[in-house]
Amino acid sequence: MRIVHYPEPVLLAVGKPVGDNEFGPEFEKSVSDMFETMRHAGGVGLAAPQVGISKRFFVMDVPDEDGISNPLALVNPEIIRVEGEQTGDEGCLSFPGLYQQVKRDMRVIVSAQDITGERLEYDLDELAARCVLHETDHCDGIVFLDRMTSLKRELAKRKIKRLQKTGKWE
Ligand SMILES: [Zn+2]
Repeated sequence: MRIVHYPEPVLLAVGKPVGDNEFGPEFEKSVSDMFETMRHAGGVGLAAPQVGISKRFFVMDVPDEDGISNPLALVNPEIIRVEGEQTGDEGCLSFPGLYQQVKRDMRVIVSAQDITGERLEYDLDELAARCVLHETDHCDGIVFLDRMTSLKRELAKRKIKRLQKTGKWE
């Protein structure tokens, strides 16, 4: 799958919910292709709009404290509750080479369907919480630029222009 880069319109559009009739082998194939694309690109999260699919689902894999892989596919995610705060560097596969400080909630309780359509609840914190919030934003057409302070956003936009000029943003 090809990862689309900012400012492609699909990244700025609100994704459509995955309908009950869409679950099945074809959907599972898209999810598994997204896991492969994410791993190949060295990311910890990838949302459907980032591969040109304007739908509300994403894959993520934030390893636990022992470095053990924890692949999750969240479909039609809904943030139930957040608490605390964390500030740290964030990147995005649709913004190659751009890392910037973003403030996020420290803990998130999110309800989502799995790849079979069953609705589950997840309680995640730290990097996993950051990832869920970042990817759920993608489902809503929000990119991490929108979550930066205005000063950092201006710096980021200038850097993007520079990267585009030198052909490092294709
Ligand atoms: Zn992203």
